[in-house]
Amino acid sequence: MVDFTLTDEQKSLRELAHDFAEREIRPVAWELDRTAGWPQAILDKAHAIGLMNTHMPEEYGGSGLSYLDGCIISEELAWGCSGVQTSLGANSLASVPVILAGSEEVKREFAEELVAEPKIASFCLTEPGAGSDVSGMRTRAVRKGDKYVINGSKCFITNGSYADWFIVYAKTDPEAGHRGISAFLVRKDDTIVVDKKEDKMGQRASNTATITFAETEVDARYLLGEENKGFKLAMRVLDHTRPGISAVATGISRAAFEFASTYAKERVQFGVPIAMHQAIQFLIADMATKVHLSRLATWNSAVLLDQGRRNTLESSHAKRFAADSAMEVATDAVQVYGGYGFIKDYPVEKLMRDAKIMQLYEGTSQIQRLVIARETLLPRRIEEPATATA
Ligand SMILES: Cc1cc2nc3c(=O)[nH]c(=O)nc-3n(C[C@H](O)[C@H](O)[C@H](O)COP(=O)(O)OP(=O)(O)OC[C@H]3O[C@@H](n4cnc5c(N)ncnc54)[C@H](O)[C@@H]3O)c2cc1C
Repeated sequence: MVDFTLTDEQKSLRELAHDFAEREIRPVAWELDRTAGWPQAILDKAHAIGLMNTHMPEEYGGSGLSYLDGCIISEELAWGCSGVQTSLGANSLASVPVILAGSEEVKREFAEELVAEPKIASFCLTEPGAGSDVSGMRTRAVRKGDKYVINGSKCFITNGSYADWFIVYAKTDPEAGHRGISAFLVRKDDTIVVDKKEDKMGQRASNTATITFAETEVDARYLLGEENKGFKLAMRVLDHTRPGISAVATGISRAAFEFASTYAKERVQFGVPIAMHQAIQFLIADMATKVHLSRLATWNSAVLLDQGRRNTLESSHAKRFAADSAMEVATDAVQVYGGYGFIKDYPVEKLMRDAKIMQLYEGTSQIQRLVIARETLLPRRIEEPATATA
């Protein structure tokens, strides 16, 4: 049976997240965008009421919410401000590899710390020469006794300036391409330097930094999964996190749609509200459809994960469609506002800038199409569990 009716608990979660977005995020969102400020006070409050680290398993003190629950929360927070949501939500991206591949001892140490305090963890995959093609990474991890020594630089790292923990992907077999990558959980220390904070087009309330590891020593027990299996782990992680990113894109689309609908009913030209002009109605109708379908694709990809099923194709469908839709809906919202849409005193130009990143990070829209084409042209015959390698 196909049924997306939310349970009473899910409705309460949505209400909690929406109220938080309305009270704590919306009132400061445009100011944080202007100043590119770090929303620590919001993170503290969100952590206190359980809106951070939502997937942390119950056995480590977390709330153990489902992926669908996480998507419901993320859409509401991103409706408030997707930059703030990214600051709040990036711990999930960093936590998934630990939950999927960490030893029991490492999982417990990491998870209990994040649950106890609003600490930050960053996911460090991208490098200047290795974006979509992560096999080109140059960061090295060399085993010395019971330790690995890591050297290299990672760029565009979300929350990097504030991270207490880093998930670091590094080459352990430099000749083996993507089969020579391993993943490590690394605690912040003096050998880890934040080189640069990026000045971004959008999502300016999120922090993005370059992180350099110089002779960083990490105990071998912090290797996540097997040596040289880090690429497969990263692909599995992205299957788990793309539904959440799609939910963020849906939140941006919904905010843009709501602003545009309200404005269209208020703005009078040629003697009638512009919402009476069919050209504007059709823009609004297309926005509504894109919000609706983005949410359905997002929830579908999350529910498959919750059922323990492989969701590679569905999470790419959702990420591609929701991200491209967010860009289209936010651009059309600016169109509905006319010249005012281009002015910073009005809300929608921020949404248009924020939306752009959705088509870029966690796999660009082109990379999603590559995945969709591969999964469609060469479908896997056997239904694999979500924990199977990608
Ligand atoms: C604000 C922000 C936050 C980020 N956060 C993180 C983070 O926390 N951790 C992290 O590890 N990374 C992060 N990233 C990095 C992000 O995931 C990469 O920017 C993204 O994967 C694209 O890599 P690239 O920028 O090097 O672009 P490139 O890979 O150089 O791509 C350039 C263009 O070529 C296209 N392209 C590339 N290869 C192909 C192909 N085979 N077929 C068709 N088109 C192709 C791309 O779609 C794109 O349009 C972040 C980036 C930004 C901007």
